[in-house]
Amino acid sequence: MTEKVFYQDSYLKTYHSEVVEVVDGGVILAATIFYPQGGGQPGDTGRLTIGGRDYRVVDTRYAEDRARIVHRIDGADLGDIRAGDAVDMEIDWQRRHRLMRMHTSMHLICSLIDAQATGGAVGETESRIDFDLQGQVIDKEQLTAALNQLVEQALPVTIGAITDEELDRNPGLVRTMSVQPPRGQGTVRTITIENTDYQPCGGTHVRNTAEIGELLVTGLKNKGKQNKRISMALVEP
Ligand SMILES: [Zn+2]
Repeated sequence: MTEKVFYQDSYLKTYHSEVVEVVDGGVILAATIFYPQGGGQPGDTGRLTIGGRDYRVVDTRYAEDRARIVHRIDGADLGDIRAGDAVDMEIDWQRRHRLMRMHTSMHLICSLIDAQATGGAVGETESRIDFDLQGQVIDKEQLTAALNQLVEQALPVTIGAITDEELDRNPGLVRTMSVQPPRGQGTVRTITIENTDYQPCGGTHVRNTAEIGELLVTGLKNKGKQNKRISMALVEP
């Protein structure tokens, strides 16, 4: 199982670990700061340095067991890499930080819309989220203003944990992306935005909503009978 260092600290840009296994097209490490695709957030990109050689990480994904994390490396010969080799890693921080800002803004939008989210995708500068609105009407300008108010309030964002049993008793907590958090490890990671949003989430977030910067609701589209797709973007990329 890969240790998820990004779970405790999403701000680490570099880290040191060792190789556990070389798989087809990628490398598995003992611990990583690379976020694997999930919950609507894309996998991280960056660089691994092993034995004095740099390897470009083009994507990060969970292995099929959902426990190990594969750093995907394109077009490089991995034949010299051995289990136990020391690794220096660096993520593409500018990209990741934008994804953190966008991901955190998904929580803000969830707090403003009283409906079940049915899917979503976090992008580098623009994201979308689908809601089962049941006929509720959304006003683009109003929603933009409400989002920016939450950004301006500079609300702290904190990481916590909930037990599997507590979560089973409160299924309404699972609100975004229609993804059920992984159970079976005793606890599930949670994210709290002060006085605004609380839900299980495994993604990477900024520490304070002020870091998101100005947001703009860019689109409202019908997606099927009940579903509305809301798009929003970072004004300062
Ligand atoms: Zn989240």
